[in-house]
Amino acid sequence: MKIICIGRNYAAHAKELNNAVPTEAPVIFMKPATAALKDNKPFYHPDFSKDIHHEAEIILRIGKNGKYVGEKFAKEYISDISVGLDFTARDLQQQQKEKGLPWEIAKAFDNSAVIGTWKPVSEFQDFKNIHFHLLKNKEQVQTGHTADLLFTFEQIIVYVSQFFTLSQGDIIFTGTPAGVSKINIGDQLEAFLEGELVLSCEVK
Ligand code: ZN
Repeated sequence: MKIICIGRNYAAHAKELNNAVPTEAPVIFMKPATAALKDNKPFYHPDFSKDIHHEAEIILRIGKNGKYVGEKFAKEYISDISVGLDFTARDLQQQQKEKGLPWEIAKAFDNSAVIGTWKPVSEFQDFKNIHFHLLKNKEQVQTGHTADLLFTFEQIIVYVSQFFTLSQGDIIFTGTPAGVSKINIGDQLEAFLEGELVLSCEVK
C-alpha cells in the first residue's frame, strides 16, 4: 500500500502559506505504508519538530489496479471515501523548501497519515459537492467543500497513474483547505464527512 498526496489543491490554502497556485499539474508527494495511523489511535508527537500542523483532507481508497487511467473511467477506481489528516512538520518543510530539498522528513514520517473510517463511494452522488470539516478541541478550524478543488478526484487519478501504477488499497490524500494550524500535546482532533464523525485523534 502506498499513500499519494496532493499539495496546494485549494487556492485559499496555497495562499495562506504564500505558495503559488498550481495551474497545469498538481503537486504530488508520497508517504510510505508506515505513515498510516488508523482506528482512531492517538498520535504521539515526535521530538524532531516544534511545529506540526494538521491538514484535514478528503481521502480516496483505490479499489482496483490501474495505469494510464482515462478521465472517463477514473471514478471507477475509487472504492471508498473518508477524511484523513496529513500531518506536516511545517518547520522542517520550510527548511527543506529553502534548501530546495525534498519534503519527506516533513511529510512522510511515521503516523503522519491519519485515516478516517471509510464510506463506500456509492454513498456519494456528486464528487464536487462533498463537505468536510475539522474540530480541534471542539472548535472548528478547517472546513472544505470539494467544489473548491483545483484538481478533481478524476483529474488526480489520471495525472498520478501516468507515473505510478495504482494498486488496490492505495490511498490518495486530495489536499487541504485553509485553516491549518499547529497541534499540541493534549489536542483532540475530530474530522467530519458530510456532518458525520469519521476520525478522532488525540495528540499525546
Ligand atoms: Zn496535505
